[in-house]
Amino acid sequence: MKERATATRVRASYDMVVVGAGFAGLACARRAAARGLSVLVLDRKSEPGERIHTTGILVKEAWEEWAAPARLVRRIHRVRIYTPSHKSVDLEHDGYFFMATDTAGLMRHLVRETRQAGAEVRFGQRYRGASANSRTLKLEGSGIRCRFLVGADGAQSGVAASFGLGRNLRLLKGTEWEFEPSGGDGDSLHCFLDPERAPGYIGWVVPGVRATQVGLAAHRDARADIRGFVTSIDPIIGLSGRRVLGRRGGLIPVGGLLRNFYRERVLLVGDAAGMVSPLTAGGIHKAYRFGKLAADAIADYLEHGGPHPGTVVRRAYPRLALKHLARWSYDRLPVARALETGIFTRNLFRRLAGKVFFDRLNGKL
Ligand SMILES: Cc1cc2nc3c(=O)[nH]c(=O)nc-3n(C[C@H](O)[C@H](O)[C@H](O)COP(=O)(O)OP(=O)(O)OC[C@H]3O[C@@H](n4cnc5c(N)ncnc54)[C@H](O)[C@@H]3O)c2cc1C
Repeated sequence: MKERATATRVRASYDMVVVGAGFAGLACARRAAARGLSVLVLDRKSEPGERIHTTGILVKEAWEEWAAPARLVRRIHRVRIYTPSHKSVDLEHDGYFFMATDTAGLMRHLVRETRQAGAEVRFGQRYRGASANSRTLKLEGSGIRCRFLVGADGAQSGVAASFGLGRNLRLLKGTEWEFEPSGGDGDSLHCFLDPERAPGYIGWVVPGVRATQVGLAAHRDARADIRGFVTSIDPIIGLSGRRVLGRRGGLIPVGGLLRNFYRERVLLVGDAAGMVSPLTAGGIHKAYRFGKLAADAIADYLEHGGPHPGTVVRRAYPRLALKHLARWSYDRLPVARALETGIFTRNLFRRLAGKVFFDRLNGKL
């Protein structure tokens, strides 16, 4: 903190270093800088917005946490859910919405706002490990020192590995193709229950900002058949003849918050810590929310001798027992077939699906 006045010089010592300029790392860094800490964010990508791996849909609560310019988003009010034989039901919920995003543009925006808050953000910097003495941590390769290290480096965190912290073991893998948009794409988020092509999760179509995003996720060890999925939904969405503009994909940790996500002066946030809804597989809202909460806790810990930030985050993190139970059921019970054969009435289905998508189970996603 004392060194803030000399921030324009290349410095070698920070209150906090964050590894990963994703949603969690930037939310954490921005808040910590606003609290007066000297903050450095490092990311191995060469620039913000490169190699996007997420669909990038913001739930309403995430949008309210950190808004972005209108040109970067497209509002979606309705979810249309399809059974395997493509019977569908529409869901809407009083004033609730999702935001499809120009995700690369959004990441550039978040980096700009994080820098404006006073944090330094450097790209092309890979984390290679760190050593600790009694008062500081020293990053291998650069010699940069810090008082606290945050691992916001995604589902397969190098920070976690280097400090012997927990690993995400239950993972879905997601794959997405971006198609040329079409005027007839409408404004619904389409979700397809397709246990054959997307075992363990769903397929989706998002009328996005500059593209129509078509993707699916499946258990990590299962075969996710995106080609077969695209063909199967063509009669509904009309994809043939449209160019594929890009591809994204990555791993989604759905095992819940890791038991072992912190130690002295080191804390994991976001996907690195398993902060993802086990059922919807959404992680951006949690990344924002717990990234900020962690920053406040770290500032209190470093500046005012507060409790360890790990205990603060653990206490605040929702238990999500119902969602874990729902994920267990989805993994093991023939949910899609039950829907198809009408074991669930349309009304019950609507209510259950409404709880999943609009998250009225406990008000948190
Ligand atoms: C296909 C797919 C679709 C998804 N769709 C949605 C969705 O629509 N809505 C939603 O809410 N969630 C979605 N998720 C989940 C969501 O993307 C994640 O929960 C969210 O990105 C987590 O943010 P994060 O900052 O923790 O991690 P990440 O976004 O993974 O960011 C980690 C950062 O760390 C950097 N990094 C990694 N290793 C190093 C290293 N050694 N050195 C330096 N930097 C490093 C990476 O370059 C990256 O920038 C989806 C995930 C996938 C895979």
